[in-house]
Amino acid sequence: MKVSIDKDLCTGCGVCVDNCPDVFELSGDTATVKMKNIDDKNSEIVSKVKESLENCPVEAIKID
Ligand code: SF4
Repeated sequence: MKVSIDKDLCTGCGVCVDNCPDVFELSGDTATVKMKNIDDKNSEIVSKVKESLENCPVEAIKID
């Protein structure tokens, strides 16, 4: 699974960072992805990333 953030949409609210600090971090005014490729077998991280995607207020998180 690949995770990315659309920096044009991200407001830097920090919801994803609070939810899943192993994958997301704040950098300046926006969040960035520090773990871009996630092993699909890592179910704990995968579910936290999906939760972050659902909770992002501007739908800036993308999963491929
Ligand atoms: Fe940006 Fe969405 Fe994360 Fe908020 S939850 S910091 S808007 S990617």
